[in-house]
Amino acid sequence: MLVGHIQSMLTEIADKLLRRFNVQFRLPVLVGVANIEDKLWLKLRRKHPWHAHPRELLPTARSVIVIALPLSREAVESNRHGTRPLGRWLREYAMANRVLSELVVVLCEHLVEQGYDCVGVRPTHEFSPTHLYARWSHRHAGYIAGLGTFGLNNMLITRAGCAVRLASVITSCPIESTPRPEKEYCLEKRGISCGSCIRACPVEAFRDWRYGRYLCYTWLLRIDRMYRDPYGDPVDACGKCIANAVCALGVP
Ligand code: SF4
Ligand code: SF4
Repeated sequence: MLVGHIQSMLTEIADKLLRRFNVQFRLPVLVGVANIEDKLWLKLRRKHPWHAHPRELLPTARSVIVIALPLSREAVESNRHGTRPLGRWLREYAMANRVLSELVVVLCEHLVEQGYDCVGVRPTHEFSPTHLYARWSHRHAGYIAGLGTFGLNNMLITRAGCAVRLASVITSCPIESTPRPEKEYCLEKRGISCGSCIRACPVEAFRDWRYGRYLCYTWLLRIDRMYRDPYGDPVDACGKCIANAVCALGVP
């Protein structure tokens, strides 16, 4: 199976779903593929022992597909002001999770029909509220699959910027892997002064991320308590460090 075929199929489905939900994300959906033999899986496991190797989730795994759904320009621009996330951002966050969950189901069904094993990892998933570690990081999987590079805000900067939501599918289907970018997408990591993402954090979480991630999580839970009802889905989202990043909508 070719990456281009997966991308066209998912983009077409996403387009139909978005019309139904009346949301305009920046299509196409981006797709990256990592081979299970890529040494970075073991490196990731060594660095973050809580992170699963794909074979722990699917013993017959041969490829990991990571899907990125870019949020709309309007949602990003709407969330640049104030300290609380604004309605459009929260609505798109909730919708992106729904759309990605649907894309994961459809892709898994497609692969299973062709005789392959498959495990889908939805955009939001179980993680330890004590240690704030997830067993699977779409961002790290996306990095290995060549979707982008990490920014100072810990987000994955893709060709469509860091304002994306991610999901993954692990499969026994052999798919040609996509190459990783040849340069860092984050300005700071290229030695160019920036920091617009970290200055935007309302709880100053980036002063020291070891403690800051707890400040961030507490803030996200507060947002969820304040806004969950109108959206009917979890909206533990803030995104000031994304919306205000110069890399929100593309590679700077
Ligand atoms: S806003 Fe600037 S410093 Fe932050 S991740 Fe993007 S390029 Fe890097
Ligand atoms: S999501 Fe909000 S609270 Fe968390 S690090 Fe980003 S700006 Fe700070």
